Amino acid sequence: MDERYVLRQVKRVSGEEIDIVIENGKIAEITPAGEARGRQEWEGLGAYVSSGWIDMHVHAFREFDPYGDEIDEIGVRQGVTTLVDAGSCGADRIGDLARDASLAKTNVLAFLNISRIGLLRIDELSNLEWIDKEKILQAVRTYGEMIVGLKARISKSVVGASGIEPLHIARSLSIETGLPLMVHIGSAPPDIREVMPLLQRKDIVTHYLNGKENNLFAADGQPLQVLTEAIERGVHLDVGHGTASFSFKVAEAAKRNGIGLNTISTDIYRVNRMKGPVFSMSNVLSKFLSLGYALDEIVAAVTSNAAEWLGRPELGRIQVGDSANLTLFTLQHKSAVLVDSEGEERVTDKVIHAKGVVIGGEFIKCEIRA
Ligand SMILES: [Zn+2]
Repeated sequence: MDERYVLRQVKRVSGEEIDIVIENGKIAEITPAGEARGRQEWEGLGAYVSSGWIDMHVHAFREFDPYGDEIDEIGVRQGVTTLVDAGSCGADRIGDLARDASLAKTNVLAFLNISRIGLLRIDELSNLEWIDKEKILQAVRTYGEMIVGLKARISKSVVGASGIEPLHIARSLSIETGLPLMVHIGSAPPDIREVMPLLQRKDIVTHYLNGKENNLFAADGQPLQVLTEAIERGVHLDVGHGTASFSFKVAEAAKRNGIGLNTISTDIYRVNRMKGPVFSMSNVLSKFLSLGYALDEIVAAVTSNAAEWLGRPELGRIQVGDSANLTLFTLQHKSAVLVDSEGEERVTDKVIHAKGVVIGGEFIKCEIRA
């Protein structure tokens, strides 16, 4: 079998046109377009190429409902080569997620839910007995390769009468395991001004552009002091669009006030993939294009920024010698209506569309609606 093939005539985000030679699953050569020799496997036709997209917040455990989906359905078929499950599983089921991940084409990493039951129920922190420290330490020891942090969902419907207490416990578990936290924010209580000061450098706040009452921006669009202070401490901002957590108005206020873009993630699962407002990573990225972000900033938010947080720089670059981990996508000039989680619409004249990925030495076409 010929293991050397050429991805011909693809374009970096900078506009530079290149050929990429892939040999035994690795990038063997990068040449100016048209110059690489080898069996032509796929004609890039001028599509953009980036390192494989990373989605920092998804729900990839198929057995759970509503917050679950098939790994490759929300991974490689969306242009996403690495996905990070955002606490679908706690210690009880993380082994089953690892088993599913070993059968998938998409790379899978995970935040371990501090509640042992994970998203078996959607009020997983309403009973503090579900936070089992010994089980967490055991899971981290066993699945340390896959686990990149701990997840705590800190909003009213999740914590119930537990209030802010689960976040204090999460903080001490973070110290004990050395793992950062991903904290989901949403409706109060707890008040966002009580939540944010507990986040430290490297922790992630997901859903930071949500449009709920208890969000991170004042009515006039100014960022709350707890947000600007968290950014100064090195807290990482993650979009986590989801069914209910992305507001165009808030995103516009964030941009207007110079709040930087760290990672763009979907918080995708079956229902918001099929019925919206998420649909796909491409669709979420198109929303940031419509907000006026440059293509290179948007691509960095699903490649190098995420790879840097993960401490895996090779996932966020295209370099000879690395495993071939690539996403091909186009920028289509066409009119489209984009909808946020509040039902607000924006009309755009250009959309991002994932075309395919190269991973595991294989080219896989994307099968999604734009
Ligand atoms: Zn989520």
